[in-house]
Amino acid sequence: MLFYGLRKFARELGLEVQSGVVCGIYERYAVSMWEGNGYKTFSISAKFEEELCNKMEIELMDLEGNYRRVVYIRFIEGVLEARFLDNPGTMKQFRNCFFDVLSVLDGYEIPDADICPKCGLPMYGQGVWSLFKIYGRKSCLYTHEHCAAAMEREVNRQIEWDRQHPMSKEEFIEAMMEIHGDESLEEIEKLYEEIEEPDTEQRRMQRRLPGWVGALCGSVLGAFILAAAHGFLGLAAIYFSWLCGELVGAGYKWTKDVRGKKGSIIIIVMTIFSVFLAAGFRVMEMQKRDYLVYIVGGSLISLIGVADVIIGLFMAKRDDKGMQRKRLQKRK
Ligand SMILES: [Zn+2]
Repeated sequence: MLFYGLRKFARELGLEVQSGVVCGIYERYAVSMWEGNGYKTFSISAKFEEELCNKMEIELMDLEGNYRRVVYIRFIEGVLEARFLDNPGTMKQFRNCFFDVLSVLDGYEIPDADICPKCGLPMYGQGVWSLFKIYGRKSCLYTHEHCAAAMEREVNRQIEWDRQHPMSKEEFIEAMMEIHGDESLEEIEKLYEEIEEPDTEQRRMQRRLPGWVGALCGSVLGAFILAAAHGFLGLAAIYFSWLCGELVGAGYKWTKDVRGKKGSIIIIVMTIFSVFLAAGFRVMEMQKRDYLVYIVGGSLISLIGVADVIIGLFMAKRDDKGMQRKRLQKRK
């Protein structure tokens, strides 16, 4: 999705809009721009040598200070990327900053956009734009077709390898010490606990009960509370059905069982079951229409209580794909 501000800017620069991304060659730079949830980004893809990056980084950091809306201007995986918080008035800063960054680049010997950032060989106008998505992060590159394809394969192979060979705690600490030598061991250990899901087997050892038992307890408790509330509030009690979701989630968590995809589905099913059970307690005194409203409305509201579980399920599915590449247009 691209809004008016970026579209207009793209037109001015003579860049194209494709698949919700601005891309093209402006002056001698391969430029792309996109926006998302609360941010706007522009990026410049070129064969940046590491030594050059280090030199430019200081100047770019100075630039960051000039723009309040800038989140960062950094080299990420060899691509220069500037990200802005999206608020009214951001577009003006975005434009000014874009030209400022280009004038910084003009001060250095940056290879022309026709030089492939991956292999360093000229593309003779045959370069292609690729939009990469990895774990929800976007990135645009202008390269040879085969270089982009090779990169996608390489990253996906790496992701697959990492999945099959999870890092041990010792390896993680060693790797982190290498990068951030100044951080204390304690902090790194804490970080490891946060990032790494404990071993599934290990988790199974320390669980109190199977997760579904906890979820069922939460579900029944929720149903009792909801049915009791119905006694006072009538149909309006369905507004409290989000509580069922909370209780089911809490019940599951209490068992200390592994969550995973299966656990998430159990939590969602038990939450809806809770509403049906509550309605069941009151079925004698409800009219058919009210019963339907209660079931449908209550189920939907109850899912608010497990919104994080649903989002987690959805995100996990997307993350599973690793890196995806979408080919944009050929340079004209
Ligand atoms: Zn190449």
